[in-house]
Amino acid sequence: MPRAGVLILLYHRVTEPDADPQRLAVRPAHFAAHLEAIRAAADVLSLAELVTALDAGRLPARGIVVTFDDGYADNATTAAPLLTAAHVPATFFLTSRYVDGTREFWWDELEQILLGPAVLPPALRLSLDGAAWVADLGTAAAWTPATVAAHRGWTVEDRDPTPRHVAYRALCTALKPMTGAARTHVLDALAAQARLTPMIRPTHRPMRASEALALARTPGLSVGAHSASHPSLAALPVSDQRAELLESRNTLTHLTQAPIAHMAYPFGGRGDQSWRTRRAARAAGYTAACANEPGLVRSRAARFRLPRVLVRDWDAATFTGQLERWFDA
Ligand SMILES: [Zn+2]
Repeated sequence: MPRAGVLILLYHRVTEPDADPQRLAVRPAHFAAHLEAIRAAADVLSLAELVTALDAGRLPARGIVVTFDDGYADNATTAAPLLTAAHVPATFFLTSRYVDGTREFWWDELEQILLGPAVLPPALRLSLDGAAWVADLGTAAAWTPATVAAHRGWTVEDRDPTPRHVAYRALCTALKPMTGAARTHVLDALAAQARLTPMIRPTHRPMRASEALALARTPGLSVGAHSASHPSLAALPVSDQRAELLESRNTLTHLTQAPIAHMAYPFGGRGDQSWRTRRAARAAGYTAACANEPGLVRSRAARFRLPRVLVRDWDAATFTGQLERWFDA
């Protein structure tokens, strides 16, 4: 008899975008198949039920919790109806400043500027934390729509085929530990060099406040926090970490008119949350927090470092096989 364990699944998007360099999207047909596989494989429970079960020392033998990070509109328009139809509960961790905001998520804006059809200068020049940063784009400065289309299937797991991809990857890394204000400053400078005004593409729209409120009011679905501006929290001074954790909790409590009990650390890896981050999350009033570190939730799991596994755009058979591997691990 295997030990009791609960698997927390991490999704980001349910859609089929033209380009998906971070591999965040699961196409709707696959997501519907995942929900069927989830119900067949385990007991489904909400994150709140998992925390209650942990507190009571009564974990289900084999449970699954579904979560979403970031707060893309497709969570509300596409994922939520599928979840409701399949009677699978889920928690949506929203990045509070992007809800009803005027910008795309910062990694999407980088993609829009660097991997889209904008004509860039031959040398991109930015100031990153006070240090000069230059990217020589050479002939990749001007891309035709055909070049953009040719690179649409590229992801960060591939090699960088052009200097634009090198710049995209470098800036994803450089912007991750910045405060929201510093990051916006860099993005504005980058957009100015590309002579474009960052706009929200309908395919990359963050959720509206009305959609967040509707999610929070849908039985089985709940909203949690994912920071205010999506930094790698552990990289920030503790006072900034606290501010991010409190702002997102306050904003989302107000927006959803519901208590925000849970959060998920942006990026969520080992380097993105330290013991100081976890302590700050507890002090900010959350009762549990999800990481992005693989593993099963066991009876003695740390409430502020709940393991989660990242789900990709797998077909039903691949996903089912992966569930078994996660449960066996
Ligand atoms: Zn995230």
